[in-house]
Amino acid sequence: MNLCDIGTIKYIQKAFGFKNAKSLGQNFLLDNSVIKEMADAAEISQEDLVIEIGPGIGVLTDEIANRAGRVVAVEIDKNLLPVLKYTLGKHNNVEVVNEDILKVDLEQIIREYGKEKKNVKIMGNLPYYITTPIITELLERHVPANSITIMMQKEVAERIIADPGSKTYGALSIAVQFYCHVERVVDVLRDCFYPAPKVDSEVLKLTVKDKPSVEVKDQELFFKLVKAGFSQRRKTLLNSLQSGGFNKEVVRRALESAGIDPTRRAETLSLDEFAVLSDSFNS
Ligand code: SAM
Repeated sequence: MNLCDIGTIKYIQKAFGFKNAKSLGQNFLLDNSVIKEMADAAEISQEDLVIEIGPGIGVLTDEIANRAGRVVAVEIDKNLLPVLKYTLGKHNNVEVVNEDILKVDLEQIIREYGKEKKNVKIMGNLPYYITTPIITELLERHVPANSITIMMQKEVAERIIADPGSKTYGALSIAVQFYCHVERVVDVLRDCFYPAPKVDSEVLKLTVKDKPSVEVKDQELFFKLVKAGFSQRRKTLLNSLQSGGFNKEVVRRALESAGIDPTRRAETLSLDEFAVLSDSFNS
């Protein structure tokens, strides 16, 4: 059964009385080569527990299950459960969990299914409407995963990989680059999905680092500064940090001791500079 075939998808829809829910971002992948590229990029082996976000009708799950030791697929739509039972029936290493990825206890899943596994890898073709919350949740909750190989809207991928000085550089770029090494995997055009969404996509592989990219004394303060700095990105750092709740004099002194011109904007600061600034507040 080729789950990337539009005829197969339509047959499944009819047989199970299933309709794609736009509100859940149900755009199903039609391109087998993208699935293989994602699985190759994630370097899946029998030693891995792979947690998949949003299996849909199981097209990526099937490929992962052929390569991984264990797969847990978290799908919010209960209407897809009978479909997944049918499409993934031949695999005995797949568990489908009917939960919201933003609420499910991933640590518990890892404890339960990852016991004899060396690595935990997260994968998925993410629903567009919650791409950023999913990524930030995974990172901020410090989910013990080695890598996160995910497809997302191209614009979000651009924001993640952006360098200082570019228009797309912001709090998301810093959060992901703080915790992960980021690699581009493949671009995916909108007509590779059924139904076709209004945007193109890209797959990124985020390899979680053992230690964050920059050392800071106080991570909470670091991210507070980043958030405040970008909350009004057109303002100077001095003004945006003040608007973000920091005392102007304290900001002025911290910028001076960090050697950062107070008229610069947050979007020009590298991760290292944010780290030096954050530590200057502390000292
Ligand atoms: N993996 C399939 C594919 O590539 O064809 C489906 C991908 S589709 C873009 C996104 C999937 O995520 C859908 O199956 C949708 O029901 C599921 N989903 C949406 N919101 C979710 C959530 N909060 N938690 C878990 N799954 C969710």
